[in-house]
Formats: sequence, structure tokens, C-alpha cells
Amino acid sequence: MNTPLLKVENLTKHFRLGTDFLKKAVPIVRAVEDVSFSVEPGETLCIVGESGCGKSTIARLLMRIVEPTCGRVMIDGTDIAGLKKQPLREWRRRMQMVFQDPYSSLNPRLTAGQIITEPVDNFERLNRQDREALAADLLRKVGMSPEMMHRLPSELSGGQRQRLGIARALALKPSLIVADEAVSALDVSVQAQILNLLVDLQQQMGIAYVFISHDLSVVQHIAHRVAVMYLGRIVELAPCEVLFARPTHPYTEALIAAAPVPDPARVRLEVPIEGEVPSPINPPRGCAFHPRCPLAVERCRTVVPPLVPMADGRVVACHVRAPSMDVPADPIAAAAAPFTHISQP
Ligand code: SF4
Repeated sequence: MNTPLLKVENLTKHFRLGTDFLKKAVPIVRAVEDVSFSVEPGETLCIVGESGCGKSTIARLLMRIVEPTCGRVMIDGTDIAGLKKQPLREWRRRMQMVFQDPYSSLNPRLTAGQIITEPVDNFERLNRQDREALAADLLRKVGMSPEMMHRLPSELSGGQRQRLGIARALALKPSLIVADEAVSALDVSVQAQILNLLVDLQQQMGIAYVFISHDLSVVQHIAHRVAVMYLGRIVELAPCEVLFARPTHPYTEALIAAAPVPDPARVRLEVPIEGEVPSPINPPRGCAFHPRCPLAVERCRTVVPPLVPMADGRVVACHVRAPSMDVPADPIAAAAAPFTHISQP
């Protein structure tokens, strides 16, 4: 089996709230717990879940903006946690990030052209002509006129700013882009344009995406595979069409049932789910979803369900829907089932 582009193994991040100089127990936020997945070149893995489920912390862990409590993040088989200076700089060329807020992630004092070429300046010396040629080329790639390279972010619309953020991410020719709620601040029509642009760029350049979103309609449009997170853990990971056709974990089922459907003739499935997401400071024992789950049994209150591989290429963590009394097979390998490229809608 080929080495995946990105492999995440048992990634865990706990944040301590405050210091313990008075020798009191310090509350710990369990933001990410034992998360494993892989991403192949040219693949889009979407991570979905309610706010506070840990999906944005995963984005920050992948980019080494925060360090993990334990676990590994490997690019082409190299653990990035151990990389120092020069190897780390080289790795940073290969992974770029697109942020949620296209305005606050752009330097308001730089022109669009300067914003695009700034990351390249960290690696190569470009003269003025090369810089302008690069900025013009990338602006064209993201569907903007090269003349816009002289404009400031404040002179661009929300959609243009997000295109500019994507152009900046493309400047270093990355293999992987981590997009954290990259379209959620945009109008619906602009969202569709940006999603189509991302799919186009993937088909032209073979880029892989880790796409983080709470919006299932966005995810359905762009994902090859989808990981559903609840309170810091992946509870189901499946090929996109399999997940939406037959959600298996009760939480996935409830999420899909709650998503708006733009078809008044379609009957929506009623899936009862009550209560709020529990605090990650004091998550419930056993399956963290058990206080809200209509299918919960006694075992759910004490034993954390393992991710169990299913015959259709998904992995599910549920004692009732995916029972396993045995030690589970390697969930990472099972979750790395081959994917098919989606075509441009
Ligand atoms: Fe519900 Fe139990 Fe499955 Fe958790 S393990 S989702 S509580 S049935």
C-alpha cells in the first residue's frame, strides 16, 4: 500500500485552563481525543461536527500552530513534530491554510499582489517583474483580473478576498491545503463559486484538501470522504456518498436529518436528539454521545466504543450500530479506502 500524503495517528490535544501554582487541580479541555485518519494526494477529506467538537483544533494541529499532547502527524511518512528549522520550512511549503475570515487573515496594508507573493519571498528572491508575473498568474487561476494586484483588501468584496486567500495559499504550490470554514463567512452564491474553484484547482493541480465545515450541504458538494466528529472524537468516517445515503452512527443520522433540504417535496427523517453538547472539560464516561442518544444501552455509559471497520468502507464508533467485542482492526487502514474523484458540478 502506498504511503498516504497525510497520516494522522492517535492525535490528542488537551488544553490546561490556568496554572496550578496553588497545587489545585487545573481543569483540562479535552479538545481532540485519539483521532486517526489519512488523506491521499488529490483527495478531499471533510471534517464535520457541531461547534466545539474539536475540528478547528485539528486544523491548528495539522499546521503546527499548536503542539499535540500526543499522537503523530506525518507528511509522506515524516513526523512533522520532530522537524526543526530548515526541514520545517520545507514542510511548510507543502501545507498551506485558508482561513474562515478572508478579511482578518489578510494584511490590510499590503496590496493583493504583495499578499500573494509574500510567502514566496520567504524562500526565493524574486525581482519586481517575476513578482508581478506570479501575482498575475495566480490571480487569473482564482478567477480574478491581474489588474486587481494593486488593490488593498478593503477595496475587494468578500468573495474576492477569499479568492485572494486561496491565491496566496497556492503561491508555494502546496500538496495539501487545510481549509477551516473557508466559505462559511460568504453569501450562498459566492460559496458555490469558491467551492467550484477549489474543485477546479484540485483537478488541475492534484491538491489534497482537509476541509473543515459545519455545513453539510457544502461538505456534500466537495468531499470524497467525510469524518464526523463529536466532542473531540471521530465517530464515523465514510466515503461521502455512502455517508449521506446511509448514515450509521446515531449522531451522523441526526446531523443529516437536521440539515436544511432545498426540496419541499422531500420528506425529512425525524431523528430525536435532545440536549446540548456536553462540556469538553468534563465529557461523559463511555460514549460521549450517550446522554443524547435514543439508542443508548448500559454498555454505552461505561465503555468508549472503538472505530469498527464496515464492509462498505466506513468506520463507525457505536456499540449498537457497529458492535465489536474484539480488538478492532486497524481503523486508519480501513478509513483509507480508495476514493473516486468527483467531477465538476
Ligand atoms: Fe448511542 Fe451507544 Fe452508539 Fe453511543 S455507542 S452512539 S450511546 S448507541
